[in-house]
Amino acid sequence: MFDFNIKPILVFWETTRACPLECKHCRAEAIRDPLPGELTTKEAIQFIDSLEGFGKPYPVLIFTGGDPLIRRDIFDLIEYAVKKGFRVGIAPAVSDLLSVDNIRRMKELGLKYVSISLDGGKAETHDRIRGIEGHYNMTVNALRLLRKHRFITQINTVVTRENVHELPYVVELLKTLDIRIWEVFFLIRVGRGTDVNDISPREYEDVLHFLYEVTRYGIEVRTVEAPFYRRIVLWRKEDIADYTDLDIEYVSRRYSLTPLYKELVKNLIELVGEPVSSPEPKISRTRDGKGVVFVSYNGDIYPSGFAPYKVGNVKQEDIVRIYQENKVLRMIRKGEFKGRCGYCEYRDICGGSRARAYAETGDILGEDPACIYIPTGNR
Ligand code: SF4
Repeated sequence: MFDFNIKPILVFWETTRACPLECKHCRAEAIRDPLPGELTTKEAIQFIDSLEGFGKPYPVLIFTGGDPLIRRDIFDLIEYAVKKGFRVGIAPAVSDLLSVDNIRRMKELGLKYVSISLDGGKAETHDRIRGIEGHYNMTVNALRLLRKHRFITQINTVVTRENVHELPYVVELLKTLDIRIWEVFFLIRVGRGTDVNDISPREYEDVLHFLYEVTRYGIEVRTVEAPFYRRIVLWRKEDIADYTDLDIEYVSRRYSLTPLYKELVKNLIELVGEPVSSPEPKISRTRDGKGVVFVSYNGDIYPSGFAPYKVGNVKQEDIVRIYQENKVLRMIRKGEFKGRCGYCEYRDICGGSRARAYAETGDILGEDPACIYIPTGNR
């Protein structure tokens, strides 16, 4: 068990901002060429060395971007981190760089996890969001290859108004490709995400209840920037009446959901059939800055990639000390928030999205405006 006051379970490193794609919602506002200040190979190695300070078992190290495969030294860095004893994952863009040869090479070097973005359940939506015709088919082919090479593979999807109705189609694809992990991201207005339309807070509830139903299909759902999914899981688990059987009408009434919930679940059943098991939701206790830390292309340390609140820089400072001692990170871990998140009975397990609080209110400790819950705790 990780003590999140001592070390994170996940360290995300934005290896570069350069990327061949220009996705509408890109957090990194990725560009074609590397930005000045990107960590050099030597600095990257020093950074990886510094992570040993967290002690064993080490956090999982995820190489993100931009597109990490653009870095010429990426395979050397993967090899170096794996040899040091880190479990390493990568979030590559689907481009020509994600070739059979490069996939084989990642496998030979001992890389374990690969996450691939899919932003629409239908080809035309994904292609429109990615800005490349045929990109959906490229993505499906890449996913097949990764499965063939036995990586632990996950699909990442950012929920927006543009694709929300297609979520059941993503589940259908997960089932077809036998991919068991679906990481569902909710929108934060940073980077190019500021121009993308988000769903409403009431629709967040619909989608999160829908995701709970998805766990009845042997799929592990992870949410990013909607930690109040955990509140919903707790409610649903306590609600014995609906725990085993899926009763769409009951859930809809009981939790005052909008028609979106029913539509999504009905489409899901039409596409993939009746559920195969009772719900099997897994919830973690991490949040931005608690169990998770992000290092940007130039070494800046943030609570997460969506919360560009700088707490240090790995070129000058020790990430272990920053993670353990930074005042704001400690407040985040203690649940010392403002507004509803500050007196909510779910603030330990949930605590709201720190990234959204920061983006919407300018206060990293503020309340999460996407959550509709009115806490009953003492103010
Ligand atoms: S009010 Fe804040 S802590 Fe409570 S459930 Fe909503 S987001 Fe989570």
